[in-house]
Amino acid sequence: MLDGLHEDLNRVKNKPFTETIESENQPDYEVGLKSWENHLKRNQSIIVDLLHGQYKSKITCPTCGRISITFDPFNSVSLPIPAKLEKEIDFEFVYANNRQKPVKLSISFPTSSHTVAQLRQETAKLLNIDPKSFYFVFSTQHLKEIVTDEANTLTNTLRKKKKIRSLFAFEMAEEDIKANPQERYDVDYITSKKILNYFGRVARKKFTHFRTASLRKHYNTRQIYLKMFQQYRILWDDAIDEDKRDQWMQMSDEEAFKKVFEDAEAKPFKIFLITNSRVLNECFFCGEKRCENCELKFDSDIQLSTLLSKIKDPDFNLQFEVYFDEPSSYLDVERLNSYTDLTKVKTGNEEKPKGIDIYDCFEQFEEPETLGEENAWYCNKCKEHQKATKKMEIYKAPPILMLHLKRFKSGGSLLSKSKIVAQVDFPLENLDISEYVINPELPMDYPVEKIIPGYKEEHENGQTANGDAILGANGQQQQEEAKTEENGETKKPLLYDLFAVVNHYGNLGFGHYTAYAKNHLTNKWYCFDDSSVQEEDPESVCSTASYVLFYKRKGFEFNY
Ligand SMILES: [Zn+2]
Ligand SMILES: [Zn+2]
Repeated sequence: MLDGLHEDLNRVKNKPFTETIESENQPDYEVGLKSWENHLKRNQSIIVDLLHGQYKSKITCPTCGRISITFDPFNSVSLPIPAKLEKEIDFEFVYANNRQKPVKLSISFPTSSHTVAQLRQETAKLLNIDPKSFYFVFSTQHLKEIVTDEANTLTNTLRKKKKIRSLFAFEMAEEDIKANPQERYDVDYITSKKILNYFGRVARKKFTHFRTASLRKHYNTRQIYLKMFQQYRILWDDAIDEDKRDQWMQMSDEEAFKKVFEDAEAKPFKIFLITNSRVLNECFFCGEKRCENCELKFDSDIQLSTLLSKIKDPDFNLQFEVYFDEPSSYLDVERLNSYTDLTKVKTGNEEKPKGIDIYDCFEQFEEPETLGEENAWYCNKCKEHQKATKKMEIYKAPPILMLHLKRFKSGGSLLSKSKIVAQVDFPLENLDISEYVINPELPMDYPVEKIIPGYKEEHENGQTANGDAILGANGQQQQEEAKTEENGETKKPLLYDLFAVVNHYGNLGFGHYTAYAKNHLTNKWYCFDDSSVQEEDPESVCSTASYVLFYKRKGFEFNY
């Protein structure tokens, strides 16, 4: 809309052709000035005077290293919203030794660029274990997915996925790491128990996430059962009577297995092979079309390799369902979902987590960005489009600064666009952007009269000339104050006060806009919501709905 207003009010009727000026190692000020001159040759309006600022943008070609620096006008600054500085990722660490309870961990990570490889290091440190001894896995009741590209996968990504899945770190036993990969077979298993369903019929209900047991292909049924028993031995550890406990704890797995499983009349659990069979497919193992997992009978004496050879689909992985039939008497199978809670433990510095503020957004804005396929840059040295690196900074700040919070992520399909609803704190007074504006001569104004003689007379009638005069005076004053305070070494404060906010509610496509604005005579804030206007508490001006912010340079007076 502002662009439209500007075009309607543009005093330049016949726009001369201008070329983009590249820096070519000249001082910023000269190139900036020439570029602004070009801008004014084509654009002269109150919109330009009030709202147009200038970026310095630096693009680096990744192939030939060519650097292009240009000074481009803007009418608003789009600020990215960084991921919250301190975030937490929760996961369960599952020991290879199943007699140790899994540990629930919560590790905070400082930035959005924190990788899974770093999470691994922190986990290892926290649990005092070898960082190479475990791996990360997403798990649901129906699937398990190993995080493979740890160097590139960001913990933030895991955190988002975690909402629908659970994250685990699985430790691997030494003997399994060392085992011949040709001989080793890692089987995912899930635990189920007997329940009575709605119709009073016996059913098997899954109640744990997938875990992994490392088998060997030559294992026979008994060895498979023994291995699975090891996974569940903790249940007996917990259940055994005081007086027999010492004896039990010292028993080897082999002896313990013989005692509570082999010699027992009723086997505590059965292993079922999770089948490929749905309605149409014949089960690989029994040939039935409606097989609800085939039992691997304890006395069937079949080798794992034989089972694997029955699988006709290369993408199908053998998985077990370990079913507890009658565990009720003394085994508390629900304990399989219990863990030691270490979530209160935090790594790194103990800084108190802070929210996002507008300065975090400015920091993020200045971060170099790698251009994607869709907005690749044409390098005139390579004569090709390149995924160049682009760094943007504000060179000249306008009297009225419009800040747009990028709540909607660009790219991707329309449906996948999501809104960031995090609150971004911003001040109603004294927003200081001096750290984020390059030109130290602040407030910065080019000698417009020298660039375009008569520019000022042309719209003199109490307009910019007056504004500039006030600006100049104020600027001078600010500069001197800053110099006495900070020894003239640092940048002078460049302060802005908020006078309006556009709010956006809802999401892309189903939104509602309102606005807050400050009456400059009464200094009261008002909320404009369709036909309703109500006074608003200044405290509520900054909210999760804040979308576009309008700031006025401190001391600048509208004289239009
Ligand atoms: Zn190039
Ligand atoms: Zn079957």
